[in-house]
Amino acid sequence: MHTLIIGAGVVGLSIAWELCKRGQPVSVLDARQAGRGASWAGAGILPPAPLRNVVHPYEQLASLSHRLHSEWAVELRDKTGIDTGFRRCGGIYLARSRAEFATLKANELWWQEHGIDFEQWDLELLRRRVPRLMTQATPELLAAWHLPSEWQLRNPQHLQALMEACRGGGVNVFEDCEIASLERAGQRVTAAITSDGKRWQADVFCICSGAWARQLLDQLQLANGIMPVRGQMLLYKLEHPPFTQVVNDGNRYLVPRDDGHLLAGSVEEEVGYDCRTTQAGLKQIRDWAEEVFPDLRNAQLKKTWAGLRPGSFDGLPYIGQVPSQENLFIASGHFRSGLHLSPGTAVCLADVMLGQESPIELSDFRVGRG
Ligand SMILES: Cc1cc2nc3c(=O)[nH]c(=O)nc-3n(C[C@H](O)[C@H](O)[C@H](O)COP(=O)(O)OP(=O)(O)OC[C@H]3O[C@@H](n4cnc5c(N)ncnc54)[C@H](O)[C@@H]3O)c2cc1C
Repeated sequence: MHTLIIGAGVVGLSIAWELCKRGQPVSVLDARQAGRGASWAGAGILPPAPLRNVVHPYEQLASLSHRLHSEWAVELRDKTGIDTGFRRCGGIYLARSRAEFATLKANELWWQEHGIDFEQWDLELLRRRVPRLMTQATPELLAAWHLPSEWQLRNPQHLQALMEACRGGGVNVFEDCEIASLERAGQRVTAAITSDGKRWQADVFCICSGAWARQLLDQLQLANGIMPVRGQMLLYKLEHPPFTQVVNDGNRYLVPRDDGHLLAGSVEEEVGYDCRTTQAGLKQIRDWAEEVFPDLRNAQLKKTWAGLRPGSFDGLPYIGQVPSQENLFIASGHFRSGLHLSPGTAVCLADVMLGQESPIELSDFRVGRG
């Protein structure tokens, strides 16, 4: 059963790898360079996931993915020799207003119920554990929470490893192949057609084109709420890693890498398919990052970029078989969590594609909902 995957981001490549491990022939096409979409632009944070009392399918997907990341990091390193940068680094959540304090305090109940370890740190403990963070703390910093089960990936390395593992397993990855439409006969897709008119045939097709997935779904007249949500990022370089934990402040974060690189992000902007950075967006992140961690004022700012998250109207991804099309599947719309949710998505969808039962009930993720 030859599968053709449209889109070589982390989701498409993870599905390709999972199918390849199960002995299936796979090709992956990307409109541009493989692994250079949102998956490259992201931060690679793997937030804590529930371990027990996991009821909602989204939580089940996060839980499964969290567990699989530990296994995939080892498998990928063994297969390719590439260190994906998977680190059990822990995460710190700052409460800088009474409202944030109340929210994080309320989260404690949820963490407890789901078996997620946490520790509340007062300011003295925060300064002892992470000495140079918040040195010029504004008076509104009230407390911090430490969650050891927040982890990180170095996403460009993870993508590189996935690509090599796929290629090593016989997966063909084709770049600069933009799929413009799907040719259909009755309930089946017969070919994917590129913008220059070339036909790509396969037994099974899977749409993994991230924020761009809606273009193909619209053609199929399938209701979907996928939309691009731009995020911007700054990359600093310090001589040594200043701390090991991811630092979260609302939707913004600092992600330290082992070699002294440090990412600062991000913003959420609905500006269509415009993937450029803006001075205003970068300034907003920079002002915040350099306030939270003043050492960054003297660090080298190496690079800035933007990426398009595949947002969905209800925050849930689209995963499963496309209605009325026997051999068409989708995995798109993972918004801010596609790197985190990619291994679980791959395992569930590979099961469905091969006619097996998915470990997670996928109906909440169906196309055409809402
Ligand atoms: C700034 C930022 C920070 C983020 N941080 C995190 C994080 O810390 N943790 C986390 O889990 N997630 C994070 N995310 C979200 C995460 O990056 C995405 O959810 C994830 O990368 C989506 O993966 P994807 O494979 O669906 O999409 P993409 O990586 O965008 O891949 C889609 C691919 O499809 C290709 N394509 C598009 N149209 C076509 C077509 N017609 N034909 C062929 N190919 C096509 C594109 O070229 C692209 O390569 C972040 C995102 C951004 C932008």
